[in-house]
Amino acid sequence: MAGPSSAGFPRMIRGSVVVQRRRCGKAQCRCADGESLHEATVLSYSEAGRNRTVMLPDEQIGPVRAAVERYRTAQAALEAKGNAGLAVLLTRAAARRSR
Ligand SMILES: [Zn+2]
Repeated sequence: MAGPSSAGFPRMIRGSVVVQRRRCGKAQCRCADGESLHEATVLSYSEAGRNRTVMLPDEQIGPVRAAVERYRTAQAALEAKGNAGLAVLLTRAAARRSR
């Protein structure tokens, strides 16, 4: 059943799911050669004009991707409605000018 991490999981999330590859900084680590880097899947988002990331545990990657996708779909639909409204307004303005 749904555990605490999945209870009330948000339906929409703003941001992008990205895989970060980086060194951890430990001199003896396998990543020190700059090739065997650590990979972490994070949600990248902007807040107050700054880019930030939050680590995603494996079990959240799928749900977060889906929520990001729902947000983008809703955002695109909203933008389309706004553009349609703008087009109507501009058409009416043009009709007034040509009268
Ligand atoms: Zn390392």
